[in-house]
This record gives sequence, C-alpha cells and structure tokens, in this order.
Amino acid sequence: MTKRKPMVAGNWKMNGSLALVEQLSDAINETKSAELDIVLFPPFPLIPAMLKAGVISGSQTICENEPGAYTGEVDAQLIKDLGAQYTLVGHSERRSIYKENSTTVANKFARAQNVGLTPILCVGESESERENALTEQVVAAQIDAVIEKLGVAALKDSVIAYEPVWAIGTGKTASPEQAQNVHKFIRDKIAALDSNLAQGLTILYGGSVNEKNSESLFAQADIDGGLIGGASLKADSFIAICNSAKGTV
Ligand code: PEP
Repeated sequence: MTKRKPMVAGNWKMNGSLALVEQLSDAINETKSAELDIVLFPPFPLIPAMLKAGVISGSQTICENEPGAYTGEVDAQLIKDLGAQYTLVGHSERRSIYKENSTTVANKFARAQNVGLTPILCVGESESERENALTEQVVAAQIDAVIEKLGVAALKDSVIAYEPVWAIGTGKTASPEQAQNVHKFIRDKIAALDSNLAQGLTILYGGSVNEKNSESLFAQADIDGGLIGGASLKADSFIAICNSAKGTV
C-alpha cells in the first residue's frame, strides 16, 4: 500500500506581491520538512520568484489547449518549463465566475498531465446542493468527468481537493465530521475502481481553514492536508497550519 504524505497548499488567488513572496518563502523555508509537502499557488507572474525562493509552486489554472490563438490564456507547458510542479484545476471560482464546466476541467486535467504537471482537482457542492442532500452526487459527477475521459488510473498522479463552495472565503468551515464524511465517500468511490490507488491518493480539504480549525480537520482519517486561501497570505497563520499537518497522515 502506498503511504500518503500530508500536503498544505496555499492559493493566493489574485493577491500577493514580490514582497509577500519574500516574506512567505522565508517562513516556509524555515518550516519545510521531509514529512510535509508545502506548495504555493501565486498569480502567474509571481511563480518564477516563488520558485527562485525555493518554494514548490504551481499555477491556479492552465489553458486546456495546446499553444495557439487563445489571447490571454497561459500554456501549461510554459508553467512546467518554469519549474512548477502542480496546477489547480476546477477551482470553484473558475467554475462559477469563468463558467468552466466539468468537461473543461477534465480537459485541463489531461493537459496538465500531458506536460508533466500534477493536477489538483477541486470539487465541491454549493450550499443549496448540500441542503438538498446532493453533495455526494455533485462531487461524484465532478470526479467522474475525469475518470470518463482518462480512466481511473489518471488519478494516480493527481491530488483531489474537496472544497465545499459554501465554505470558501466565507468563514464557514465544514465540521471535521462533515469534511471526513465527504473525503471518505471520495476515497471509497475511487477504491471501488482501484483500491491501491485510492489508499495512496492525497485528498485535501479546503474552505476557510485557519490556524484554529486546521488541527481537528487534519486529524481526520481521510483528510491529508489542506488547500488554504485567505490564511495562506499571512505568514503566521499559514505556518501554523503547515505545522498542524505534520505527522497527521
Ligand atoms: C480556496 O481558495 O481554495 C480556499 C479554500 O479559500 P479560503 O481558505 O479563503 O476559504
């Protein structure tokens, strides 16, 4: 059985600066250890500085297409060539604001793997979907879009981030039990197709994680770390969250 390793990823969204790269990278370099993967997702122009500062980095999205006439888009191969190792795909802000559907997200997932980037597939239900008991159905469909396109084996070189939309940037966090239930559902669903792969798969929780709630979330059996938005912009909070993930998987 593949042993999992905890991961804490920071999504800066459209925030940050060169000064913040310097500040955060110093703190991360003091904190990083072999028992934890720390990955930062700054805006595209800050990726080279983050990498130069020694922090494993990725992009917040990529273009699903190969290079061509797509004004304003960024090619995954260029991100890879910079030295980045990851990309987020299907973040809820991409799905809701930029109307990315599960087909687009699956295309981006495929494109990432084609160039050697590890996709972090973000999935999660809206508040009304949860209220209508559709959480499992929604999350399953978002994962199935990738499985149907690429087969379950493609999930081996990926990470899944469960991020309930109602918890992102709202200060409302899923309780550890609520989050664990969905993480277990995801792992069991994939285990039904490939149990070794499912046991080795890193599944992150995201949604208003902070230094006060991270420990109880990361203590859950199927939660392997977190995807952190707002709190990844504050060195003290982010480092405390990273430390709380050590030794939890
Ligand atoms: C995110 O952007 O993926 C996220 C989880 O944001 P926040 O931590 O601010 O809710």
